[in-house]
Amino acid sequence: MDMTRFVNTFGRYLREKYGEKVHKISVSPAVFTCPNRDGTKGIGGCTFCNNDSFSPETTKAGTITDQIRAGKEKVAKRTGAGKFIAYFQSYSNTYGAVEDLRRFYDEALEDPDVIGLAVGTRPDCVPDPVLALLKEYQDKGYEVWLELGLQSTYDESLIAVNRGHGFGEYIDAVQRAKQFDLKLCTHLIMGLPGEKPEATLTSFDKVVELGVDAIKVHPLHIVKGTQLARAWKQGKVREMTMEEYTDVMAEIIRRAPKHLLFHRLTGSGERQYLLSPEWAMKKWDILGTIYKKLDA
Ligand code: SF4
Repeated sequence: MDMTRFVNTFGRYLREKYGEKVHKISVSPAVFTCPNRDGTKGIGGCTFCNNDSFSPETTKAGTITDQIRAGKEKVAKRTGAGKFIAYFQSYSNTYGAVEDLRRFYDEALEDPDVIGLAVGTRPDCVPDPVLALLKEYQDKGYEVWLELGLQSTYDESLIAVNRGHGFGEYIDAVQRAKQFDLKLCTHLIMGLPGEKPEATLTSFDKVVELGVDAIKVHPLHIVKGTQLARAWKQGKVREMTMEEYTDVMAEIIRRAPKHLLFHRLTGSGERQYLLSPEWAMKKWDILGTIYKKLDA
């Protein structure tokens, strides 16, 4: 299965640009939180969020330097990669004083095999000084990606998951990030409560129209320790099937402009946290099904 026949994958982009395999390593400064948890925007967080459910064990290895060391070892063994991007994934990784952020990013880049940063955050957490900081790294030649969690362009869906920001904040963040000439990846979740899977097609079209460089999509995971898990146990959450997910993903890929990179076509996570859907852990089945649909 050569997905690059149909998809402009992030992996291929990196391989062509750097002449070797480059992989992300998740890192997490223990001090980061998120305005949807510390009371600035809310306290309960998004209804689907449990950061532990997608944070690999290596992010618990100690300092960022320790995490990079552990992550390199694990990822290199699995993929053969020799170069890495430090992926600040959990919580909102631009939510802090610029000098603190600089310290964390600098520490990650101390390792000579780390060639860049991928910084995940919320659209309402990227003031201009933070964008200027990321641009500094880009200007020094590092591979820098700003990853904005949007999940849906529908405000009613964002309200339903207690997101604490709307599509408007995302548009503003994209426009300002583009002024800083930053590379931008947007995260979407398919199957949010109250949304049909096809709604993600509309969200996809809208973010592409705004000029993002890359996209990352995954199915809604119902994970332990979340508000969504409680609603699911009460039978209040409609579950999406793998058929529905792969149908819409195949259509997203067909519609994608040539330049658009796909950072991810599905999501995995830490198995011990997932309640539903069971199929979401079967990454290779999902990819194989999407591939067959594209190849038909
Ligand atoms: S998903 Fe992101 S924005 Fe939402 S509560 Fe979790 S860390 Fe905060």
